Amino acid sequence: MEVFYIDASKCTECGSAKVGFNEKRSEFFCRDCGFVLMDSIPVIEATHGKIERVMVNPKEKKIAVVIRGILKDKTEKKMSVFYAEIKKFSLPKYIEAEVLVLAKKAVELKLTMSYSKLEILCALIYHLCRRESIPVMLRDLEKTYGCSKKRVLKSLKLLREKLALNEIIEAGVESYIIRISSDLGYNGELATKAISVAVGVNIAHVLLKAAVAVWIAGGELGLKIKKKELARVAGISEAALRKNLAGKAK
Ligand SMILES: [Zn+2]
Repeated sequence: MEVFYIDASKCTECGSAKVGFNEKRSEFFCRDCGFVLMDSIPVIEATHGKIERVMVNPKEKKIAVVIRGILKDKTEKKMSVFYAEIKKFSLPKYIEAEVLVLAKKAVELKLTMSYSKLEILCALIYHLCRRESIPVMLRDLEKTYGCSKKRVLKSLKLLREKLALNEIIEAGVESYIIRISSDLGYNGELATKAISVAVGVNIAHVLLKAAVAVWIAGGELGLKIKKKELARVAGISEAALRKNLAGKAK
């Protein structure tokens, strides 16, 4: 329960200090424009939850409103989307907490004017999961939240700049290899082989590196992996995959 005070010393409508009090109605009114200051209470109700009691103090020219529930400020109100949506993506608790802290900073910096709250949420989840070596794919986020990869990556760029997020520490190539191999429907043998192959693959892009390693390992194990399927599963373009496979063992 919280108490919210409304200053009744000035008219909120015209700014006049000639505010009178009507005892019968228990309300303050402006002697200049006639505005009834109690009218601002429904506005508070809309922003802050349910009103339990309204007390008027004519001597101090104050209206005290007792509100049930938590008095939310504007930022907290905007955060409610994040609180609700983050539950849809099961994340470790500590990551969830960090995403929310960063999301709040983004809201305070008004980054929600450039990107939707869901796009910002996806970008933060993606960033933190990669940092923690949790192999989350953009398409997982797209599936859950319906945000396009392009928009999520663009918003991440802005977030990195504005929130001074530490330089991204890529999730280990190993975790992506395991994820890609199992998504392709293969057992641990392919992943194990690909992890050892990856050591010799000199590609900076972590997903591309993982995909190329899986491809080479698949060839060595005599598996028939389709490039198109591999690119889809790894969340990279087929063209990029083909380009990087050129000259590499089949
Ligand atoms: Zn007035």
